Amino acid sequence: MRTVEEHQAIVLAGVEPLEVIEVPLLEAVGQVLARDVVAPWPLPSFDNSSMDGYAVVAADLAGASVDVPVVLNVLGDIAAGGDSSAVIAAGTAVRIMTGAPMPAGADAVVPVEATDGGAERVTFTAPVSEGACIRRAGEDVVAGETVARAGDVVSERTIPVLASVGLGVLPVRRRPRVIVISTGDELVEPGTPLTHGLISDSNGYMLTACATAAGADAVRAPRVRDDAEAFRAALDAAAAEADIIVTSGGVSMGEYDTVKAVLRASGEVEFAKVAMHPGMPQGSGHVGERRVPIITLPGNPVSSFISFELFVRPVIRRMLGFESLFRATEPAVALEEWHSSVAKAQYARAVLEVGDDGVRRVRPVGGQGSHMMAGLAEATALVVVPVGADRVEAGQTVTVIDLNRETP
Ligand code: AMP
Ligand code: MG
Repeated sequence: MRTVEEHQAIVLAGVEPLEVIEVPLLEAVGQVLARDVVAPWPLPSFDNSSMDGYAVVAADLAGASVDVPVVLNVLGDIAAGGDSSAVIAAGTAVRIMTGAPMPAGADAVVPVEATDGGAERVTFTAPVSEGACIRRAGEDVVAGETVARAGDVVSERTIPVLASVGLGVLPVRRRPRVIVISTGDELVEPGTPLTHGLISDSNGYMLTACATAAGADAVRAPRVRDDAEAFRAALDAAAAEADIIVTSGGVSMGEYDTVKAVLRASGEVEFAKVAMHPGMPQGSGHVGERRVPIITLPGNPVSSFISFELFVRPVIRRMLGFESLFRATEPAVALEEWHSSVAKAQYARAVLEVGDDGVRRVRPVGGQGSHMMAGLAEATALVVVPVGADRVEAGQTVTVIDLNRETP
């Protein structure tokens, strides 16, 4: 048996980030920038008012007080996006709105609340310091500054600065096309009435959803019967356009394990036992002229989910250009005791809670059988019980993967 880490290294061997493409801003959210982004102009790009008020020459208001108010003539209005050709001379003011460009000659803005709000003549009762309420060009970003670096993840927080430096598109890696093929004579399309012995193809949907959540452009192929020719045909079709092929089912020791039979005979995939529970039978290799990476996952739904998490998600992330391929682990205190197989790493479905005391605690959920989907639905975390441990004690600190948390 090989370890989880050894199998991860094997599936990742030779996988490289995909080619760089330019995509519209919103399509880039969640993606890794492939190149540095440099601001071609400063931000703000012009001096502008930070308040609704009056643009003035500060020296005009030097002696203003309640007892000796200063009254100025208002030359007109400048709105945000408006014309700033007005030139202020001593003794005049311009009514200005937040974000409007400063008129030439003015060196301060007095907020409207501090005045009588006049439209033709405006009264000031206090002095103003030079530069008050002006946002200076370049005080946020200077021209030529790098506002985001290759490797940064585009997020709702980086989008404002990236959009503001005028980039309609961003350089990212093409999303890998993942084709998911479920195999099994027992599988029917969800929504179809079941006759005895048949089940819905839940893995096809789960794995496609997992791949989409990981950032892939994922599609679910129609399910394939346990028939060598049908599987080969589905595989050849997928190999023509996929960047990654993921199969579910047909890799254990049964008589009708077609995936294993076909791919072992062709030598395209190496099958191995990985010291993990659930999900021991695994396979990986390359198919077709394009040498498309293929990862064959076991059919039991929970095995399939955990295998995806450990072996497929990192491959997708590498193709997308992420530096960190694996979800972070963190310590938590186990609330119950449970058993684990000493020879395998266990990935126990669990609920992770953070108490008012700030301590993270986990309790296992649902049945831990690899066919038990209700527990998976409830789980928010996986507890990793390492090889060598035969149990977890209540109160023990364990290693947890928080499934709701992205990688750091
Ligand atoms: P297999 O690896 O094909 O022997 O399948 C192992 C178990 O997983 C069997 O109980 C299958 O019925 C079940 N299974 C296989 N494929 C799927 C699927 N796509 N959706 C849900 N269960 C499946
Ligand atoms: Mg099967």
